[in-house]
Amino acid sequence: MIKFYNTLSGKKEIFESIKPGKVKLYTCGPTVYDYAHIGNFRAYLFEDILKRFLIYMGYEVKHVMNITDVDDKTIKKSNSEGKSLQEVTEKYIQAFFEDIDTLNILRADHYPKATEHVKEMAHMVKVLVQKGYGYKKDDSYYFDISKYKDYGKLSKIKRDELRSGERVESDEYEKKNAHDFALWKGRKPDEPYWETEIGSGRPGWHIECSVMSTQYLGQPLDIHCGGVDNIFPHHENEIAQSESYADKKFVNYWMHCRHLIVEGNKMSKSKGNQYTLRELIKKGINPMALRYLLLSTHYRKMLNFSFETLDQAESSLERINDFLYELDSRSFDSGENPLVKKTINKKEKKFVESLSDDLNISIALTSVFELIRDVNKLLAQNQIYEIDAEMIRSTLRKWDRVLGVLPKKEDKKLENSIKKKIKLREKARKEKNYEMADRIRDELLEKGVILEDTKEGVRWKKK
Ligand SMILES: [Zn+2]
Repeated sequence: MIKFYNTLSGKKEIFESIKPGKVKLYTCGPTVYDYAHIGNFRAYLFEDILKRFLIYMGYEVKHVMNITDVDDKTIKKSNSEGKSLQEVTEKYIQAFFEDIDTLNILRADHYPKATEHVKEMAHMVKVLVQKGYGYKKDDSYYFDISKYKDYGKLSKIKRDELRSGERVESDEYEKKNAHDFALWKGRKPDEPYWETEIGSGRPGWHIECSVMSTQYLGQPLDIHCGGVDNIFPHHENEIAQSESYADKKFVNYWMHCRHLIVEGNKMSKSKGNQYTLRELIKKGINPMALRYLLLSTHYRKMLNFSFETLDQAESSLERINDFLYELDSRSFDSGENPLVKKTINKKEKKFVESLSDDLNISIALTSVFELIRDVNKLLAQNQIYEIDAEMIRSTLRKWDRVLGVLPKKEDKKLENSIKKKIKLREKARKEKNYEMADRIRDELLEKGVILEDTKEGVRWKKK
């Protein structure tokens, strides 16, 4: 039984998908006017863990993430840089894909671009107007929030706080300004525009997600995610548009992750603490440690990013990798210790149960380290056998289908070549061929591998 906290009801609810075994997942994607920052990646990683866990539990997940390549922000950037909208957005789309690959985030099934769905957006606006939910003012169209009786149900805004009849132009605004919002913005001199059945202009930001989510997934969706800052107005407006348009529920489960702060402070460009992945990599951080850090705090808790917490994440990750290396590099007697299987089963149960409880990652991670601790004790007593070692390895690999922090297969190949070199060096040392042993050590150092001679033998680490 899986439970998720649903923002709509404000409660944890038992998760039931519309079609058994299948999940339709929509996650708000990047607005491609700049490089994504670690706050954005926190949301993408929460969604990645959610999706990986659903897959782990046997669901077939169809995942759609939109790309906002036309909105107030992208237009502003293209005007200020004197470049075409496409020139600006293509650059950041490419960067976005590079970044999510670096962080080992699973790719969605579709990444629809707003600019490629303008016709369908104009059509939705037309229908909303025909049904009396929208109206035209000058060359723009607005959604009349007084016509949709459930307006505010997601963000818990009260009806008497609504300022219907007054209009808000910009895509983003505060809750206290809950006005009729723009569905479609009439053509302006400095803005790109499309000729459509409702006239020339461009879509508002909110209609983009309403159209692209249902076009690819069908209404209703099982799960719609984003950051808490998307709840109002973006998701509130998506609900108003989609439910008024189709006369049925838009989304069954709304899941939102909380903010990320940096060294205890709000993240902002002017404070210089709004790091992009690229900036952090330039500072020499390990992207997998960042992945570990961003996923290791429960998604509904505030996450404090600091270089210290990043170091801690790095050591936790190292503990897992060192442990696996220990298992890989030792040879075990044939046979098995029944205690190991029992321990694994217990930890597996805890891993699944905790994630089933609204993705309680902290407890899931304790299963990992408890398993390591328990096995280490047995290792010290030479009570791990061949079958046990294999079972432990495959359990950690299996859990990593959710966590996604262990080295990939290509890295494994590199590891094997390193291990071969280490053996060669050991042989050289035994034969007292120190010149060759040193040469191999230097060669590995050049590749960023540090060797440490310990009582138990040689260990290696990446710089
Ligand atoms: Zn969206």
